[in-house]
Amino acid sequence: MSMSTDSTVASTMRAVRVHAVEGHGRLQLDLDVPVPRAGPGSVLLAVKACGLNHVDLLTRDGQTPAPVPLPHISGTEVAGDIVDVGPDVRGWKCGDQVVVDPILFCGECASCRIGDTNMCRNSRVFGVQTPGGYAQYVVAPARQLLALPRGLTHLQAASMAVTGPTAWHMLHSRARLRMGEDVLVIAAGSGIGVLGVQIAKLAGARVIATAGSTQKVAQAQALGADLVVNHSEPDWADQVRAFTGGRGVDVVFEHVGAATWQASLKAMARGGRLVTCGGHSGFQVDINLWHLFVKQHSLIGSFAATRQDFIDVMRLAEQGRLQPVIQQVLPLHRIAEGQALMQARKVFGKLMIDPTLN
Ligand SMILES: [Zn+2]
Repeated sequence: MSMSTDSTVASTMRAVRVHAVEGHGRLQLDLDVPVPRAGPGSVLLAVKACGLNHVDLLTRDGQTPAPVPLPHISGTEVAGDIVDVGPDVRGWKCGDQVVVDPILFCGECASCRIGDTNMCRNSRVFGVQTPGGYAQYVVAPARQLLALPRGLTHLQAASMAVTGPTAWHMLHSRARLRMGEDVLVIAAGSGIGVLGVQIAKLAGARVIATAGSTQKVAQAQALGADLVVNHSEPDWADQVRAFTGGRGVDVVFEHVGAATWQASLKAMARGGRLVTCGGHSGFQVDINLWHLFVKQHSLIGSFAATRQDFIDVMRLAEQGRLQPVIQQVLPLHRIAEGQALMQARKVFGKLMIDPTLN
């Protein structure tokens, strides 16, 4: 079914785009960007919420593995209302409120066929390899949509769209977390950390978290962490070991990389598993093979999340068992400011954009 463009949709929109500058990109609020058209299988969304994510910084700085054509609209964590429906879309109509699963997959490769949609050979990330939500409107494939969970605002749902499923995939699908285990969540105040703490608690684990300031330590305790150590103190791994009676933790939830790697390994018990989904402080780390095999440590990679992880997290959010943590909501023209706050690690939880704000 094809519908004509809703009369309330303008032909141009405000969008924050990355423009090419020598060696890196620069953000700019553009006022006259053409509103994209919903092609076959896609819908046009009026963006009501978009999260800021570290990957946006990589895109801006030209550090994504494959270069992104510029100008580019970032923003992977999107919720909005359908304002136009392209051809060959069934099950959705104008006015529907939705959140976007940003892990785009082909549905046909061997990985997709067994449900490992995050391992799709043709996978792309919405807002990185496609235009994203730093705009008033965005086109999204209809099969990436989920109805906004009941009781959640657009901002709340979007704030968990990447971090929630990613943390869920790490702890459940990859680390196979069991009830009663000790989990160390690195950087509990990060977007993914606030969900890591909650998901580990929900799974019946004892949670030890790290945070980088006195205020963040208190905020992480309020989220339910059983112990929070300040990772600016050099002996924080010893504090973790002491709390576990000298044994160390069963699972380390890592996403920071080089800056925390050695202490993360030091905090791990014999037989422990370290699961990691990122390394924005540096991707090159040292591994002492003697320690790895004598202690029977497991190092586990985890990438994004499957559709099932996305659905699991949104359902738990709908039931009120996972809480979104939003520090601040900004209008489009303050995205650069928000990215600077994120880079300076002055955010607890998520910074969100509401393009309807002026
Ligand atoms: Zn595939």
